Amino acid sequence: MLNKKSVDDINVKGKRVLVRCDFNVPLKDGQITDDTRLVAALPTLKKLINDGGKLILCSHLGKPKGEPKPELSLAPVAVALSKLLGQEVKFAADATVVGDNAKAAVAAMKDGDVVLLENTRYRAEETKNGEAFSKELASLCDVFVNDAFGTAHRAHCSNVGVTEYVDTAVVGYLMQKEIDFLGNAVNNPVRPFVAILGGSKVSSKISVINNLLDKVDTLIIGGGMAYTFMKAMGEEVGKSLLEADYLDYAKEMMEKAEKNGVKLLIPVDTVVAKEFSNDVPFHTVGRGEIAADEEGLDIGEKTRELYANAIKDAKTVVWNGPMGVFEMSNFAKGTIAVAEALANIDATTIIGGGDSAAAVNQLGYGDKMSHISTGGGASLEFLEGKELPGVAAANDK
Ligand code: AMP
Repeated sequence: MLNKKSVDDINVKGKRVLVRCDFNVPLKDGQITDDTRLVAALPTLKKLINDGGKLILCSHLGKPKGEPKPELSLAPVAVALSKLLGQEVKFAADATVVGDNAKAAVAAMKDGDVVLLENTRYRAEETKNGEAFSKELASLCDVFVNDAFGTAHRAHCSNVGVTEYVDTAVVGYLMQKEIDFLGNAVNNPVRPFVAILGGSKVSSKISVINNLLDKVDTLIIGGGMAYTFMKAMGEEVGKSLLEADYLDYAKEMMEKAEKNGVKLLIPVDTVVAKEFSNDVPFHTVGRGEIAADEEGLDIGEKTRELYANAIKDAKTVVWNGPMGVFEMSNFAKGTIAVAEALANIDATTIIGGGDSAAAVNQLGYGDKMSHISTGGGASLEFLEGKELPGVAAANDK
């Protein structure tokens, strides 16, 4: 059980609080095109403002690769956040992030004030967890709050290094929710516990499959990774995605499932086409019937039913990765069917970030899920059973 101190466990009145946020928003011509991440940050920020903290916010934005890039400045975020919070967010425009502007702005703060630092990745040390930048960040504050789950699987100065030089390091509400669902619900699930894994490759989800086979009652496989499992069972898969190097691994996982009493489901029918395109004819074939010149691009209708049935009575479900090439409308039905099945059950439903989160949101099922993770890479590492440096760095309760 991960039991980390949160913003509810500290007193920030009159204290300088450095908050690592996830303000990695999409920008076009200097304008923020989607402010979801800013809105998501508000509960933690408002709580700390109301408690009388002096808030110093920091975040990365894009990949400036260790040098100032004006197009990746956080200045537009300060403007947008000022509107959302209904109070001034003072922007400290230092190319070195912790420079004269930041120091002066922090020195002048009153309780409840908010200052935003420049893009932390303007500094080359940030992604290397360098000591000097970590110390500079720590010198600005008395308390550190991490609310950026998207980078929790990385040890950088602004989420891990800084905590070595600050006595109090806690998590914000966004991080807390990720820990509650991905960390704790997955490790201590109400059963039956079903995991659904899709996406392109077995190789990128090896550790997830392996770890989940020790925890779930049913493991459902879809997407491009399913063909390696079919091939491992001796079936032809035509031109479908296949990772020949992972056939033995797929066999091992099937054996592990059997040994652990886990029901492992792979597609019973497949939507195939002769080309990887939305503009060519397609049809559905059964197991072992994929022709040499065809490739599988989605799960078929019978599989959609099989999977929806397998999910129906679950009490905890975690889903990561699409069931087919959902970016093409002809091959999106499998992914839509899984999203619908999850939206209609009475269970704790947890969506790993990335494509499955996008699919659920696009279909308008966002509100029907218990938790949609904001971090693709970080959520996968949680599902692999790994300790995330950004989570580990927070004080235990
Ligand atoms: P991942 O990043 O590994 O989660 O994979 C996501 C990608 O897998 C999406 O872009 C899907 O289009 C792709 N994908 C899903 N099913 C298939 C398939 N049957 N063949 C090729 N690509 C697929």
